[in-house]
Amino acid sequence: MEGSVDRLKVAINIRPLMVSELQNGCTDCVIVAPGKPQVQIGSHVFTYDYVYGLSGSKSSQLFEECVVPLVDTLLCGYNATVLAYGQTGSGKSYTMGTNYHGEANDGAIAHRVMEKIFEKVNKVRDEREFLIRVSFVEIFKEKVFDLLDQHSDGQVMRTRRDLRRVPIQIREKTLGDITLVGVNEPAVKSKEEMRLFLARGSLNRATASTRMNSHSSRSHAIFTIYIEQKRKTSSSHCNSGDLLVSKLRLVDLAGSERVKRSGPNGLRFKEGIHINKGLHALGNVINVLGDEKKRKKGAFVPYRDSKLTRLLQDSLGGNSKTIMIACISPADSNAGETVNTLKYANRAR
Ligand code: ADP
Repeated sequence: MEGSVDRLKVAINIRPLMVSELQNGCTDCVIVAPGKPQVQIGSHVFTYDYVYGLSGSKSSQLFEECVVPLVDTLLCGYNATVLAYGQTGSGKSYTMGTNYHGEANDGAIAHRVMEKIFEKVNKVRDEREFLIRVSFVEIFKEKVFDLLDQHSDGQVMRTRRDLRRVPIQIREKTLGDITLVGVNEPAVKSKEEMRLFLARGSLNRATASTRMNSHSSRSHAIFTIYIEQKRKTSSSHCNSGDLLVSKLRLVDLAGSERVKRSGPNGLRFKEGIHINKGLHALGNVINVLGDEKKRKKGAFVPYRDSKLTRLLQDSLGGNSKTIMIACISPADSNAGETVNTLKYANRAR
C-alpha cells in the first residue's frame, strides 16, 4: 500500500461515438497513442495509468486492471473507492452500473464487483465469517439523502420529495471513521440481493433533464459495500487482527459540465453550483493525495470543503485505494468538456 501509485490511479474511458452524434456529422477528435496510456486532443497530450476505449480494449480489461485490485484490498480490510467522473453523457453510469433499473451493461463495474466479492467470499467461508451490508446515498445540493429510505418514493416529483426527505448527517467517529447517521445499511447474503438494493436506490436517485441527456443525474450517487469479517482460523496472506471492517465505495459523480443558467429562477444553475463545489473539492483532495511529495510534507487535505469529500474522507486517504475513471466522449462537439475532464484527471497524477 506504499506510494501514491498504489493509492490512487487514474484511468480514462472513452466511449464510442453515438449514432446520434454520427448522424449529426460529429467526428472523432481523441487520439490514443498506440501501446501507451496517452490521450491527445488537439495540441493537448496527457498520460495516465490506463486508457480504455478507442484502442479496442474491453470493459473486462478495465475491471481486471482497475477494480479487482480494489476488491482484494477490501477483503484484506482496507477501504477502497471507484470514482466515475465526466460530463453528462460521457458514460459514467454505463461504466459504473449504479443507475440500475433491472437491465444493465453486463460489464458494468457494480455488477462485476458484486460477483467478484461473493466469488472471493465463498472461497474463504470455511476460514472466515462474513457480514456484508450495503448503503446507497446521493448528495444533492450539498445534502446527503438515503436512497434506501423506505419512505422515499421514486414516483413522487423531485421538489415535493425533497421537502419530505430528511438529510443524513455525516459524523466522524474516533479513528477518523466516517459514518452516516441513521442511514439504512441492510445486510445481504447474495449478489442478487445486492442488486435489488441497487435497483431500489436507483429508482430514488435524483434525475432531471438537461440539454444533453434527459436522464442525466445532477447528484453524486454513492453505493457502498461494507464487509465485516472474523477469522475462524489464522490466515496466510492478509495480516490483521480478529475483526476486519472495510468498505468499497462506488461513486457515480454528477456531470462535470459547466452549468449554463436555465430553468425557472435559475434553479438548475444553483444546483450546478452545489455540484461543482463537490467536484472542485474532490479535485483538490485527489491532487494532494496523488502527490507523494505534498503528502510526505504533511500537506493539508481539504476534506471538509464539501459533503462529497467529507463523506469520502476515510475511503480516499489513509491506507485506502482509489481509482478515478474519467469518462470522455470522442466527439468533436464535446471537445471543450473533454479537455476539461482530461485536465481534471491529470491533476490527480
Ligand atoms: P453519463 O452517466 O455520463 O451521463 P451514460 O452512462 O448515461 O452517461 O452514457 C451515455 C450514453 O452512452 C448511453 O446511451 C450509454 O448507453 C452510452 N454509452 C456510454 N458508454 C458506452 C460504451 N462504453 N459503449 C457503448 N455505449 C456507451
